[in-house]
Amino acid sequence: MSRTTSYTVDPARLDGMVQEPLFAAVVNEAALQDIATFAIGGYVRDRLIGRPCKDIDFVVEGDGMAFAKAVARRLKAGEVHVFKNFGTAMFMHGDVQVEFVGARKESYRRDSRKPDVQPGTIRDDQERRDFTINALAVSMNAGGLGALVDPFGGILDLDRRIIRTPLDPHITFSDDPLRMMRAIRFTTQLDLTIDEACLASITRNAERLDIISAERIHSELNKIILSHKPSKGFDLLLRTGLLHRFLPEMVELQGAEEKFGIGHKDNFYHTLQVLDNVAENSDDLWLRWGAVLHDIAKPRTKRFDPKAGWTFHGHEDKGARMVPGIFRKLKLPLDDKMKKVKKLVALHLRPIALTKDEVTDSAVRRLLFDAGDDIDDLMILCRADITSKNEKKKKRYLANYDLVIRKLAEVEEKDRVRNFQPPITGEDIMAAFGIPPCKAIGDIKTVIKDAILDGTIPNEREQAWDLMVKEGEKLGLQLTKRPDR
Ligand code: ATP
Ligand code: MG
Repeated sequence: MSRTTSYTVDPARLDGMVQEPLFAAVVNEAALQDIATFAIGGYVRDRLIGRPCKDIDFVVEGDGMAFAKAVARRLKAGEVHVFKNFGTAMFMHGDVQVEFVGARKESYRRDSRKPDVQPGTIRDDQERRDFTINALAVSMNAGGLGALVDPFGGILDLDRRIIRTPLDPHITFSDDPLRMMRAIRFTTQLDLTIDEACLASITRNAERLDIISAERIHSELNKIILSHKPSKGFDLLLRTGLLHRFLPEMVELQGAEEKFGIGHKDNFYHTLQVLDNVAENSDDLWLRWGAVLHDIAKPRTKRFDPKAGWTFHGHEDKGARMVPGIFRKLKLPLDDKMKKVKKLVALHLRPIALTKDEVTDSAVRRLLFDAGDDIDDLMILCRADITSKNEKKKKRYLANYDLVIRKLAEVEEKDRVRNFQPPITGEDIMAAFGIPPCKAIGDIKTVIKDAILDGTIPNEREQAWDLMVKEGEKLGLQLTKRPDR
């Protein structure tokens, strides 16, 4: 699903760059003001590897905000947004976001990632960048026009697929611990290797992540989850100890305990495999979160039964109940997205249970009712959950799921319970019996819903009406209104 990470580095991709209208405007303004100006960072990196990129950053050795306004005028671009706190100015050029900043020198205090900033040179600015591959710059000035300015060997690192900091990694990571998350995020997105000193330094500084806001952490984490092979990132998060800082519930999944020669699988690596499997079939972030959390309650429900061996009874329900807390802590959205993840975790064993007995229509109908529009994603998760190394077993399970999927389609066509709307509403019941809101209404609705899901009556108003009358009579209620069918 997600783009693959295979790339080649080709400096020829920079050819012609300064003739393109946006860059030409910058070049002309830089000449007019006689100011050293560079395109820098992610855009240069992505252009060298042929990866699309819709935001372009420039550094000027001078007043970035005034320069941005002048370039915007040349391009007849819209409004220039100025962020005084960051000393940056931004405007849109078509669908490209263009940002200017004055070259800076920074020094940090220990308790914050907000540095003291002073004007500096391009070299100072490159030094304060997080990684050599993100410190690449292209000159916009005569003399070096269009040339790569790469004081730390970033292009070589990009080619060798190595991520490394321009300065001593202890300084880089301790100055801004978010960079540790970024290191693992880029490593996962671009399939890189983290330089050894860097990795050691992340491990040593892991606790410093605690000064970073949950929003910034989850934004990097989501990018890892959305990568083509997210397991690589999670493995690194675990090994460096970063995961312990913000998702300790997941750390608890690791390890395979053994008792009397009976072991269980390592649920951390099982989870990662499920996540990778899902990633091959869907780019939906919340489905992928469902994979991350599907077995999250296994450690808390684990028991050893002398007869059955290891069991994790109820881990799906307990896991679903853990989802809101985890989302709240990470400041992830608590709306429908969270509800979807919760639902996926709660239901992830249901299709398996279906394949164990004969697949009855009513069980399929109940699953459709409970999963609603998330049924297709649930089936992707369930298929991904088959990580057995026994190929024969795997084939059999998958064939069972194919059967469930066929059955789901059949039942849905017949009974339309996927987004079940009761054919008789509470208002209908109140009007029919001339009663105010009361418990009886809920009871009658439940009887009707169960009858439809069990297949005792079809999902039709007429039959539901008759059942309502019968149930009402049982409760001593009298019809005061003619059926309105
Ligand atoms: P992407 O846009 O794919 O997330 P990017 O490298 O462009 O990747 P941005 O967050 O857009 O990342 O930042 C643009 C550039 O700013 C980076 O390439 C890097 O040079 C610099 N940068 C961003 N965040 C940091 C940071 N926390 N520390 C140091 N430099 C940073
Ligand atoms: Mg960017």
